[in-house]
Amino acid sequence: MTTAPMIQARLPEKATHQQTRAFNQQLVLRAIYDRDATSRAEIARLTGLTRTTVSDLVTELLQGGLVHEIGRGPSSGGKAPILLSVIAEARHVMGLDLGEDVFRGAIVNLRGETVRARSLPLDGRDGDDAVELVFRLIDLLRQGDDRPLLGIGVAAPGLIDSSAGVVRSAVNLDWSDLPLGRLIGDRYGVPVSVANDSQAAALAELTFHRRLRPANMVVIRVGRGVGAGIILGGQLFQGDGSGAGEIGHTPLSADGELCRCGNVGCLETVASMRAMVAAAGRHDPAIHDEASLIAASRAGDPGVRAVVQEAGRALGIGIAGLIGTLNVRHIVLVGPAVALGPEWLAAVRDAARTSALPLLARDTLIEIGRAQEDAILLGASAHLMTEQLGLVAGRH
Ligand SMILES: [Zn+2]
Repeated sequence: MTTAPMIQARLPEKATHQQTRAFNQQLVLRAIYDRDATSRAEIARLTGLTRTTVSDLVTELLQGGLVHEIGRGPSSGGKAPILLSVIAEARHVMGLDLGEDVFRGAIVNLRGETVRARSLPLDGRDGDDAVELVFRLIDLLRQGDDRPLLGIGVAAPGLIDSSAGVVRSAVNLDWSDLPLGRLIGDRYGVPVSVANDSQAAALAELTFHRRLRPANMVVIRVGRGVGAGIILGGQLFQGDGSGAGEIGHTPLSADGELCRCGNVGCLETVASMRAMVAAAGRHDPAIHDEASLIAASRAGDPGVRAVVQEAGRALGIGIAGLIGTLNVRHIVLVGPAVALGPEWLAAVRDAARTSALPLLARDTLIEIGRAQEDAILLGASAHLMTEQLGLVAGRH
């Protein structure tokens, strides 16, 4: 497995002294975070910074309460080095998953371990009412949490401009050009980051679930829609307009069904849970939601099996396109569809293998992700940590 080189983020060309210091601070913190326990000498080797600079920066991190000394490591001849580790509880992070039916939130520590979780049903709210519900969820989560809050990471469906913290378009919530980051930041006085839900799911895999972080990885979330988060060079790639990974609306066929985006034959019209529930419901009216679809699929209902296999095949063809475009060797599947069972996964793998260039497909691993239920809100937290502490390097 290839792993991301340590130093990913680049400094602006005309960086001020303060920017350089902050940048180096993040490099040092990330080196400690990634290794659980490491010495000043090893950090210097990993980051290319001088021993003196590393010592100064570590002192600041110790004073800031972000890291602590946890004893001595093995000696390599001389004096045994003092080991440093990040204090998981040093800061708490709030992650929000603004889903289509339910808004879910959690307070997590710096290792992504959930301290408390709350959720509120959307009950058809949209527009300003949905924003009010976000505030109510934040208020609920804040009650009784006494650790310093690093910030609030928000993940929402739709097109998101992360650099501006603006939801450009979330159809289900009737939000367009909503400055959600500023609204939350003004009200609570903490840093806020806003990301697309599939991109957040990718960050969760990268930050909290991979001991060896692949440099390149695509995390595909199959729920009501189909979306991907693309990790390139160890960082989330968001594209020029933050919309990278909107694979659900790439064309599968020229004469397919009408998609909710207005086009015809998008991948989502076959491969999404929404499409599968609709198609299986035509076969058996008792199938009307994701839970009944999953139950029928696992029970081996032949009509449902055909629907699920067709959906898996469509996704596999979409993945073949990604393999050909990016030559990414790690494809990770998350979202409600992973509960459909092994036949769905087999159909995805089969179609990807037979549709992609054989030499490229042979080296590609398609697997089920580890972060599932909490993937999006953990990813929202990871996005905030990335922006505030540089733990997974900076923005695109
Ligand atoms: Zn579409």
